[in-house]
Amino acid sequence: MMAADLHSGVEHLGEMIAAAKVIVPFTGAGISTESGIPDFRSPGGLWTRNRPIAFDEFIASQDARDEAWRRRFAMESTFAAARPGRGHRALASLYRAGKVPAIITQNIDNLHQVSGFAADHVVELHGNTTYARCIGCGRCYDLSWIKARFDADGAAPDCIDCDEPVKTATISFGQAMPEDAMQRAIELARHCDLFIAIGSSLVVWPAAGFPMMAKDNGARLVIINREPTDQDDLADLVIRYDIGETLGPFVGN
Ligand code: NAD
Repeated sequence: MMAADLHSGVEHLGEMIAAAKVIVPFTGAGISTESGIPDFRSPGGLWTRNRPIAFDEFIASQDARDEAWRRRFAMESTFAAARPGRGHRALASLYRAGKVPAIITQNIDNLHQVSGFAADHVVELHGNTTYARCIGCGRCYDLSWIKARFDADGAAPDCIDCDEPVKTATISFGQAMPEDAMQRAIELARHCDLFIAIGSSLVVWPAAGFPMMAKDNGARLVIINREPTDQDDLADLVIRYDIGETLGPFVGN
């Protein structure tokens, strides 16, 4: 599939949205760069600075937990200041218009909820970094509680109920995917007639399998990403431009 120029891409996307009955958006870190949250794989992205801490390292080592929490606190001013961008707002408009039953996201920043999606209608494949959870009993914690304990003790705290480590409510490398979210994402991908992948490099599996799944089940596929992806050849429309520019015209009431 040849990438469209911006003007005809937006026009074609508008026609596809108008013709669709059930639209499922699938978002990655690229939709949130306009909100000031860096992605992983762009130049200057998070991976060029820090090697990710895998789940088993986090469980095995207090040092790894301390380092993970130091990194998270270092990002807090960025996450706390982030507001939905034009991409988030355009998708929230389609949701309010009744065309989007739910959204699948790889993002952990909570911005789809902030833009107006009910929490129940955001299928988070990689969890959420705006709160924490005990990896043993699942008890939820506010980040402010973790920060206060960390500052007082100089170390990441364990769960007050069961003594197991407490981690941001995200899915780390090496950690099992959340079964319920995976199942819901599969159902959504299979039962839409338009699937729009937005701001994902489409290289992290199993998440990267959803566009193909939607296409195999008869949906039309749109990929919006400023860099080429391995799945562009599958798509009915590829828009290789900035997400805010592309989706800005779809921001409604
Ligand atoms: P990625 O970093 O692998 O890919 C992001 C893609 O978006 C890149 O191909 C980049 O070219 C493109 N992009 C960035 N800004 C764009 C813009 N303004 N317009 C158009 N394209 C743009 O991200 P991924 O595919 O989501 O996978 C990485 C994992 O990182 C995710 O699973 C997620 O859990 C995590 N992550 C999340 C956040 C967040 O929640 N905001 C931020 C960083 C990483």
